[in-house]
Amino acid sequence: MRCRRGWLLSVLGLGVLAAWPTTTEATPPSRGLQPLSVTLPIRFRVAELGGRPVRDKAWLDAQVARANEVFAPTGVRFQPVGSLPLPAVHARLESRQDRHELGRHLEKAVINVFVVDSMRDVDHPEQWRRGVHWRLPWRADHHFVVLTSIGPPTTLAHELGHFFGNRHHRWVPGNIMSYEHGEAPRFDPDQLRRIVYEARRFLVRRRLITLDRWGELTARGVLPQLHYPRAAAAVGGLVLRPAAPATPARAALPRHDPLRRFARHVTRPTGRSTERTGPPTRARRRRP
Ligand SMILES: [Zn+2]
Repeated sequence: MRCRRGWLLSVLGLGVLAAWPTTTEATPPSRGLQPLSVTLPIRFRVAELGGRPVRDKAWLDAQVARANEVFAPTGVRFQPVGSLPLPAVHARLESRQDRHELGRHLEKAVINVFVVDSMRDVDHPEQWRRGVHWRLPWRADHHFVVLTSIGPPTTLAHELGHFFGNRHHRWVPGNIMSYEHGEAPRFDPDQLRRIVYEARRFLVRRRLITLDRWGELTARGVLPQLHYPRAAAAVGGLVLRPAAPATPARAALPRHDPLRRFARHVTRPTGRSTERTGPPTRARRRRP
């Protein structure tokens, strides 16, 4: 009986797993493609081994150039805002936990791209990955791209395809989301609309900002900012801004500047609120 019940539970469990989507894919608007005209900042963090980065600038530039070609129909462009060293402890990713650990180095308002030496496939440990789009399970809005040193120049474009809401691999030759994407990969019309939809959503919610805004906020000393500054310091991570300004950045913004909301978030004291491990609480008191 016990055995039978166990069997039944495992069958039900498998059913649930099979029905559970592996990646959320937003439904794109059905109307035609309305391209944006935005440039989004990318922050590279490149792992170092023996004091040398695992990949050089030319390799990063080739990745960005190919991504810009593939994304051109969406009007979304990418521009690196610099490459920072990533401690050697992150150079070889073996497990899910190793990927989660990169969350310590996430920077706000940019697309975070980590470049590591190698990354094992967590489902098929005998295989090595060329890249991944990874989401922190406890903070679904914190997601990033990892490239490995064996990635071809199209890997960034493929992983950014995931970053902007496209599901895993369509077995369509020539499609960038397919393993058989060939020499001149592209997105299909649905995927293009989805990218525009997601990019607009990220911008409206200030998960990402445009390159111009990033430059402006960097000049004011508001950015760059890490999501987990204390955790980053604990692992000997990067100090992006050695002397933090004494006055909150929010005060420096005009009263009606829509970025005040974002700035308040940025300047929140580094305590539990920025490093909590549970889901975000959104208790808001309504006005009577
Ligand atoms: Zn993929």
